[in-house]
Formats: sequence, structure tokens, C-alpha cells
Amino acid sequence: MKYDVAIIGGGFAGLSMASILSKKGFKTALFEKSQVLGGRGGYIEKEGFLVDYGVHLLRCGAKGEAAKVFEEIGKKAEFVEVGKPEIFIDGKFKKFPSGAMGFLTTGLVPFGAKFALIKVLLGGLKADLNEFYRTPMEDFISQKIKKEKRRKDIEGVIGTLGGIGIICSDLKEASAGELFGFVKRVSKSKETVGYVKHGMKHIIDTLKESIIENGGEIKQSTPVKKIVIEEEKAKGVETDSEKIFAENVVYAAPLQNLNEIIAEENAPAEFMKKVSSIRPTQGVGIEIALKESVTDKAGVIITSDPLTMGCFTSNATETVAPSGKQLASFFYPITDIKKSKEAIPLLKRLIREMFPNIQDKIEWELERTFSVVDGAMPTYQQSYLDRPDFQIPSMKNLYLIGDTTKGIGSGGDIAFNSALKCSDLLIGELNK
Ligand SMILES: Cc1cc2nc3c(=O)[nH]c(=O)nc-3n(C[C@H](O)[C@H](O)[C@H](O)COP(=O)(O)OP(=O)(O)OC[C@H]3O[C@@H](n4cnc5c(N)ncnc54)[C@H](O)[C@@H]3O)c2cc1C
Repeated sequence: MKYDVAIIGGGFAGLSMASILSKKGFKTALFEKSQVLGGRGGYIEKEGFLVDYGVHLLRCGAKGEAAKVFEEIGKKAEFVEVGKPEIFIDGKFKKFPSGAMGFLTTGLVPFGAKFALIKVLLGGLKADLNEFYRTPMEDFISQKIKKEKRRKDIEGVIGTLGGIGIICSDLKEASAGELFGFVKRVSKSKETVGYVKHGMKHIIDTLKESIIENGGEIKQSTPVKKIVIEEEKAKGVETDSEKIFAENVVYAAPLQNLNEIIAEENAPAEFMKKVSSIRPTQGVGIEIALKESVTDKAGVIITSDPLTMGCFTSNATETVAPSGKQLASFFYPITDIKKSKEAIPLLKRLIREMFPNIQDKIEWELERTFSVVDGAMPTYQQSYLDRPDFQIPSMKNLYLIGDTTKGIGSGGDIAFNSALKCSDLLIGELNK
């Protein structure tokens, strides 16, 4: 049997690609090495709770990239609003600004520094992103604000914005173009983040259903061992048990691992070296199932020192927890995963500081260490301009998607956006 397209990986990117292509009538097979679908965007069902793999919110909500994929396949995503973001500082919750007025009135920077903050943000909103993708955020701020004291006054709040917006709070590393891309898209869509009814289960199950409805095949617990390449042209894939022929192959997993299934002699050495060294974001997290309600907060909860974020997801969509119970998820990005043993107790302490009554209400907690959060940290060296394109130079019929490629946004946005863009490219070729 020959497929039009064989897709390797059943995360957001691979599922989106397979659902778009099968909807258009192309014969598609998706191979997923794990027993379950969803990859890093997956979920588990535990004692009546629907638990995402760490805090998963969708930037720009119903106007974001996941929603665009759903539109493309004719499905309706059931978005729910999350509440306003709040930051926990000096033992109290305060509003975290989410729009221009918010930044103008925020108490998070001294009165005299508000003008500097607005100048930087407006400068970014007006900027051509292409000119600033390769600029560290710290340099962008220095270009706009000459006084060192003023820069110091605003760095904290901009770092926090980078941390929650693009998961890169280090202003020496964060790409100014990536950070302002996020700010621009959020201002345009008027939605910072959204969530979906039933959490990520809704996204994964709907994409899966759509693939099957349209005749696509999904093979779980089926790792691809090799991409078959002959004369610089992809011909199919090999699993443990069979060789599958396909006109086109789409690799939809982090590019750092591409060398595991592509023979060295089949790909340009320089390209393989570049992709194997892409730096991901990393972190630790805690999922907390609660016997009873702890808070009615339904927005993103932030701490800035250290930067952490969380959400009581069951306050945004009650179906993720059994009636009367709550589910919360907290995430702490760290740059050195070896420090996860120290980071988890610190995150736990912070949660108990924010919600002193939480301890007695815990039904269970799940501690997690994430060696890859977003596939490519949006630093000034790994920004949109420098992330690998959807095809390997000189290689035919092989396409690359997922959150380490040239999609727009961060993490999940890139995964969905890369599938949308690359499916256009591939469909163009298939229709020739
Ligand atoms: C804790 C955490 C929190 C996050 N929060 C957010 C958030 O709030 N918002 C957001 O937008 N993003 C978030 N992300 C990032 C988001 O989850 C990822 O960007 C997205 O899931 C990546 O999807 P993907 O399809 O590109 O890759 P993956 O999810 O990694 O999918 C790749 C799939 O390929 C499979 N695979 C790999 N190799 C093979 C092989 N040889 N054969 C067959 N199958 C293979 C894997 O098993 C996997 O299922 C978060 C991630 C984590 C870990």
C-alpha cells in the first residue's frame, strides 16, 4: 500500500498535519511511538481528573493557532476564557498588566519609570519584527532608554512578560522580535490566553476523530526506526515490522532527535549539526488535585522571583475535575534540568505561600520534570529567522514540522502554525 503522506509523530503538529491532509482527501498515515497521542500536549485521566502535561494555555485563545487548525478542518474548538493574570508579590496578589492601559497604571514599576516602560512597549509594537528577531531584548531596551536607573526599574516587569509570554525571562537571551511578536499578536487578537473545555483532551481527541472520519490511519505504539531515503528523495518509513511506502514523509517531532532516524550519509552534515544543537526550554511542574475548593481564581498566577506560573484550570473549565473538586497546575522554568531536585520543593513552597490553606485539601500531587518544554527557546540566536525551514536543503519529499521549526510564536503555537504553513506547501506539491 502506498500513502500520499506518512507522518512521524502524533503531537500537536503531526495530528494537525494529518487532520488537514486527510480532510483534503490525501491518503495519510500517522505513526506515533507512544501508546497515547498528544506528545508534550497530551493528557492523562487520573481518578476523575483530566490532567494536562503541565500548564497548557493557548496564546490568543479562540484567535490563536490551534483555533486556525480547527477552522481548517471544519471543527469547532470549545474555547473558554481564563481570568485576568495576577502576580504574587510581597505576600499579596496584584493585577498583572495585560493591555496598554494596564502597563500605564501598573504599580509594578515606580511612577517615574512608567514612561520608559511604555516607550519600550510602543517601540516594540511599531517595530518591524524582522529587524529585531536577532536582537537580545536587553539591547532593544538600551537602544530606547538611555538612563541605566530607568532600565533597571523596568527590566523586572519586561522579564516577567518574556517569561510568561514566550518562556524566556532572561533579557540577555530573549529575542526582542519574538517577545514583541507575542505582544503584537495578543494586542491584535485582544485575547492573551485561552483554554478549552475538557483541557487538552478536547484538542487531541478532536484532531484524532477528524483524521479517522476522513479515512486517515493512526498507528500508535509504532516507532519509526528509519526514514527511507534514496537519491536524496524520501520514499517512505520503516518500523520494527514493516517498510511503508509514501510519496512524502513529514517528520513532526523535535528536530534534535532527527539524527536517530535519518542515516548520516543521507542528510547535509551542517544541517544535522545545527538541528541537533537547538536549545529547548526546560522546567519542573506540579499538578495538584484538590478535594475541595481553594480559590476561585481562574487566570494565570505568576510569581516573578523566581518566575513561575500556574492556573486553577478547573476554575476555567469545570469538566477537568470531579464535581466539587479542583485541579491546579504550576510550572517553574529552569535553565539547568539537573537542578530539578531543588526546584520542585521551591515551587511547592511558593504554592503554599500563595495558598496557605491548600495543604489540607490536597487529594494527590504529581511532580514532574520536563527536559523539553518548548522545543526551541526563543533566544536571539534561535528566533523565527533562524529556526529550520520546513524542508532540508537538497532533499525532496521530506518535510519538517513541530515546535523547533519555522512556525510563528512559541511552543504550541509553532507546532500548530508549522502544520498550517507546511500543509499548504505540501498540498501545492501534491496537486501539481
Ligand atoms: C510542561 C509544559 C507546558 C507547556 N505549556 C505550553 C503552553 O501553555 N502553551 C503552548 O503553546 N505550549 C506549551 N508547551 C509546549 C507544547 O506542549 C509543545 O510546543 C507542543 O506540544 C509540541 O508539539 P509537537 O507536535 O511539535 O511535538 P511533540 O509534542 O514532542 O510531539 C512529537 C511526537 O512524536 C513522537 N515521536 C518522536 N519520535 C518518533 C518516532 N521515531 N516514531 C514515531 N513517533 C515519534 C513523540 O512520541 C511525540 O508524541 C508546554 C510544554 C510542556 C512540556
